[in-house]
Amino acid sequence: MESWSPLALRVVVTGAAGFIGSHLCDRLVADGHSVLGLDNLSTGTMRNLRGLREHARFSFRTHDVCTEFDCAGRVDVIYNLACPASPKDYLEGPIRTLLASALGTRNMLDLALRKAAVFLQASTSETYGDARVHPQPEGYWGNVNPVGPRSVYDEGKRFAEALTMAYNRRHGVRTRIARLFNVYGPRMRRTDGRVLPAFLDQALRGVPLTVFGDGSQTRSFCFVADIVDGMVRLAASGVCDPVNLGADEEITVLELASSVQEAVGGSSGIEHHELPQDDPRRRCPDISRAKRVLAWEPNVGMAEGIRAMLASYRAGGASTPGEEPVGDG
Ligand code: UDP
Repeated sequence: MESWSPLALRVVVTGAAGFIGSHLCDRLVADGHSVLGLDNLSTGTMRNLRGLREHARFSFRTHDVCTEFDCAGRVDVIYNLACPASPKDYLEGPIRTLLASALGTRNMLDLALRKAAVFLQASTSETYGDARVHPQPEGYWGNVNPVGPRSVYDEGKRFAEALTMAYNRRHGVRTRIARLFNVYGPRMRRTDGRVLPAFLDQALRGVPLTVFGDGSQTRSFCFVADIVDGMVRLAASGVCDPVNLGADEEITVLELASSVQEAVGGSSGIEHHELPQDDPRRRCPDISRAKRVLAWEPNVGMAEGIRAMLASYRAGGASTPGEEPVGDG
């Protein structure tokens, strides 16, 4: 029987087998906490949890958050990450995406209420939509097309934020809302459709990089370890208002393509494709609140982060979904 430090928490993480969720589980277990991971394995994979499966303080249940959930014993903190997050995934599963944000968040808030746990909702910069204010502070209410194809994600997450605040106001649940901007790092599926895995995969295969539109749209990319650190700090803070977590260095998609080609070596060229509907033109977080209330800012620069991701892909990580052993949990 292992001894517990006084600060050891019992934590539930939904979306535990996903890209960010699995890194969060790694961090929480490394910090000495006990973690119960939940995932329906629709976009996540048990491969992401390989390092934890045998760990005494980690357990896993295959569970869809849309179904009510309960567990025995104390729960101190719930991190609610379960939701398809790449545009390709959520456009392919529009209804399950909305329900993951609606029913999933309701079920996990109910668990937080029963257990008197801190509840952290993983939200998104997509709540700002095609922003008219730049960079985006938390006080900006956003410009979202409520009936466009992306609304299944954007409005789902906006509903999840509203529900989180309602449980806070109505039931006194200690809630947190992390608005995550573009995150990248090892374990992103090479074919999940997001720009960095797509570019790295294409450059490694020596085929042209698929730039949507003219490539002048911007994003800011934050390495996953920094995001996880921000979420852990936010959970421990008393801050109920939303907090942006992301890198505040804005780059165009074309600049990103060049950086990837430089990191991989060789040039496979670029191929322009149609810009998806409602693709935000500019995105960059104002992170002054996170700096002030969490003493947080990103540490890993893009060149270093891309090198780490590239190394993991070269080592055979994040294979295509068809090659992944799904459902062994
Ligand atoms: N994008 C691209 N080529 C790709 C995938 C994405 O040019 O193969 C663009 C996309 O149109 C968007 C940006 O890269 O402007 C980021 O897209 P991603 O899907 O990674 O995330 P988003 O920020 O749109 O949710």
